[in-house]
Amino acid sequence: MTTRTCGNCRLWEVRVKPAVGWMLGLGKCGNVPKYFDVTDDAGDVDDLNARVLKAEFQGTKAVALDASGHCAEFLTTAGFGCLAFEAKVVAPGEAEV
Ligand code: SF4
Repeated sequence: MTTRTCGNCRLWEVRVKPAVGWMLGLGKCGNVPKYFDVTDDAGDVDDLNARVLKAEFQGTKAVALDASGHCAEFLTTAGFGCLAFEAKVVAPGEAEV
């Protein structure tokens, strides 16, 4: 039986050299977009942190945000997992993690 982990999830992209995290065996979850990519300001000029999800991203359940707001990714090991797991199609002969 396939384990419901990132290594078996179609949304996971393993890092390859020289990308950050490749030596740790990390991969990027494609299900966690950047906060500023999926939000718009709510029109409150006094509160720049008041943001709402863009219409096309309604239903987004997690976002990535770093201190700068410019670059953030959710990196996991192959053994991590979450409820949003989506099984990838495994070609005959291809090993599962
Ligand atoms: S964190 Fe969840 S959705 Fe993202 S790659 Fe892992 S199992 Fe898939």
